[in-house]
Amino acid sequence: MVQPTTIREALLRASSFLQEHGCRDPRFEAELLLRHVLDMERASFLASLPDPMPDGAAERFQALCERRAAQEPLQYVIGTQEFFGREFLVRPGVLIPRPETEILIEKVLQYADRMWTKESELAAVDIGTGSGAIALTLASERPLWAVSTVDLSTDAIEIARDNAKRLGLGDKVRFLHGDLLEPLLLHGEQVDVLVSNPPYIPSSDVLELDREVKEYEPLLALDGGEDGLNCYRRLCEALPAVLKEQALVAFEVGIHQAQDVARLMMASGVIDETAIVPDLAGIDRIVVGVRKQKS
Ligand code: GLN
Repeated sequence: MVQPTTIREALLRASSFLQEHGCRDPRFEAELLLRHVLDMERASFLASLPDPMPDGAAERFQALCERRAAQEPLQYVIGTQEFFGREFLVRPGVLIPRPETEILIEKVLQYADRMWTKESELAAVDIGTGSGAIALTLASERPLWAVSTVDLSTDAIEIARDNAKRLGLGDKVRFLHGDLLEPLLLHGEQVDVLVSNPPYIPSSDVLELDREVKEYEPLLALDGGEDGLNCYRRLCEALPAVLKEQALVAFEVGIHQAQDVARLMMASGVIDETAIVPDLAGIDRIVVGVRKQKS
């Protein structure tokens, strides 16, 4: 790219540069990257198109466009992703929150509101929290809940902590380091609400994922073992030890896994009923399990 003069020229050049590198929506992505560099909302950006590029902006913009041209996910290049109306920091080391995971949040809130009152001070845990999108959203939506997170990746814990601070939840959410439910089992802790979006891609399918996903997003957050169900097996085995007498469990699952995961929940012996919820593409995506209070 030659040194651009106006913001409009920079935008147009970047757009064709990204197009040449196979970017699917070059004009849109060039605008997002440029607005990120200039720190501008859309309206002021559009009004500034005839202005000259500020000092240093061209170089920074070019560096970002080159990362994107190498197929690094746009969210890592910009450094954020919106989830359930809030902005989360993301970088390599955590999975980029996906829109289908918002359905997990909706279902947890909906079921919890049916099972308890909104004033209940529930203990909730998010297993494999990554950027913290699920746990921090629940903590924001239900300020009375005591939310804990577990992750095996210290990188992820650091990012989730940064996100907690940015959302004003710094002291409210607990970050535990460990493998799935081990930190809870170790301390004999029990919860009312257990949620997880564990790695669920079957190992042999990982190589077939989009290049953006498999080359940049953490394998630890994607690879679910031979049939993709390893984490669900381990989570469900531990349900009798970690669930309180009345409890709600909700997992995100991969394509064709919902029935198996619902069976694993029932096989734990402590879940009374399950429900399967599809995503917007019609893929069964969320499995909910309810443990009813014994009267
Ligand atoms: N939804 C992610 C993907 O398809 C996978 C997330 C996961 O394994 N939990 O790339």
